[in-house]
Amino acid sequence: MTPFRRVALLGIGLVNGSLALVLRREGAAEEIVACARREATRRRALERGLCDRAVADPAEAVEGADLVVLGVPPGAMGEVARAMAPGLDTAAIVTDVGSVKAQIVHDVVPHLPDPSRFVPGHPVAGTEHSGPDAAFDTLFERRRVILTPIEDTDPAAVRRVRELWELTGAEVDLMTPEHHDRVLALTSHLPHLIAFTIVGTVADLEKQTRSEVFKYAAGGFTDFTRIAASDPTMWRDVFLNNREAVLEMLGRFTEDLVRLQRAIRWGDGDTLFELFSRTRAIRRAVIRAGQAYERRPVPPEAAGGNGEEENGG
Ligand code: NAP
Repeated sequence: MTPFRRVALLGIGLVNGSLALVLRREGAAEEIVACARREATRRRALERGLCDRAVADPAEAVEGADLVVLGVPPGAMGEVARAMAPGLDTAAIVTDVGSVKAQIVHDVVPHLPDPSRFVPGHPVAGTEHSGPDAAFDTLFERRRVILTPIEDTDPAAVRRVRELWELTGAEVDLMTPEHHDRVLALTSHLPHLIAFTIVGTVADLEKQTRSEVFKYAAGGFTDFTRIAASDPTMWRDVFLNNREAVLEMLGRFTEDLVRLQRAIRWGDGDTLFELFSRTRAIRRAVIRAGQAYERRPVPPEAAGGNGEEENGG
């Protein structure tokens, strides 16, 4: 792949930081410029070698860049796009890594000098850790990256962004932003919402019970706490920016939950057994599709959680 001359990473946390490590490893960028609001973020990004320069001003960050990757929380994408616009080269390819797509397209496009250079994207890979310290270069390996080109997007720009993600070891799929949002509402957003709910319910229990829940926490609850430890800003933005699709999936889920509630109340073991058999088969299908495998350790820099990864938006 022809290296990019200058890559501007707007936001340099888990996702953009991990992408930076791949760009470095593969020699795919002659220069990397990072942008973050806080001095502490910029300093850690520099200390970890995620970038050559780190600045606070998005317009300064994108000056002379031929690739710009927006990696801030979904609700901040529009504002960052607006702020970078004065420094942006018309020919620069702009992509993003946000977990929702239609709303980000809506928020970002009005600020771009040439929307045909915009290739919205979402690497479906993540952990519950955030910030530059959480980045590691195998984050995207064997995972999927979904690109959601808009009507105007130049196919040559899509090819270039596809090549970039293939370098990370990910498989790239294309779909519309709306389709992406419906699929992810079901496969990622709803499961996170359930985890936030369960852990929140437990946290509301009286102190004595709670300490027993923690003491006797079985694998199931522990897994939920890992997912529910995901970044609050990002997840707030995901639900606010994918409202329709999430509400639709939540409606279906609620109906199914009530059906299970009835089965338990009426001692209807057949219904429970039939569902649990079906879900067991689904687990096998997910493993066959390469989207789940035995847990991998996270690098020491990202430790501080439970040393496991495999979730993310
Ligand atoms: P992260 O680790 O928290 O990093 C976010 C970065 O953006 C930081 O460098 C932060 O630095 C900067 N930032 C935060 N708020 C900002 C704002 N309002 N304006 C400008 N900069 C801001 O987040 P991440 O997990 O990499 O997520 C980044 C994007 O990737 C999100 O859109 C998310 O939906 C998507 N994504 C996340 C995952 C996941 O599992 N985490 C997976 C796939 C995609 P400062 O605070 O110093 O500004």
